[in-house]
Amino acid sequence: MFLGVMIGRQNEESDRMVRSKMIKYETTWHCSDCPFVGEGKTKSDAIDNLYKHVENTHVDVSFNCLICFKTCKTRRSLLVHRSRNHKHDGSRTFSF
Ligand SMILES: [Zn+2]
Ligand SMILES: [Zn+2]
Repeated sequence: MFLGVMIGRQNEESDRMVRSKMIKYETTWHCSDCPFVGEGKTKSDAIDNLYKHVENTHVDVSFNCLICFKTCKTRRSLLVHRSRNHKHDGSRTFSF
């Protein structure tokens, strides 16, 4: 998942910052800074939900497009930007 998006130091550090506030407790994912709990139909939906919460609420991060150097405020907006503008550039891949 998220192929080709999370490359580069800036993006990796932003991602690490968000994830550092995501805590797994048994089967649920919690925010480390407030009582927010990630919700969703599936585990990855719940993680995604919490990820969005953290990046919108607790951290000031940016994700850069390494093709045109556009800066996005959220991982989601970078994904959308990438799929709209650079659909055919599959040469750089990276996955967690
Ligand atoms: Zn929170
Ligand atoms: Zn771009």
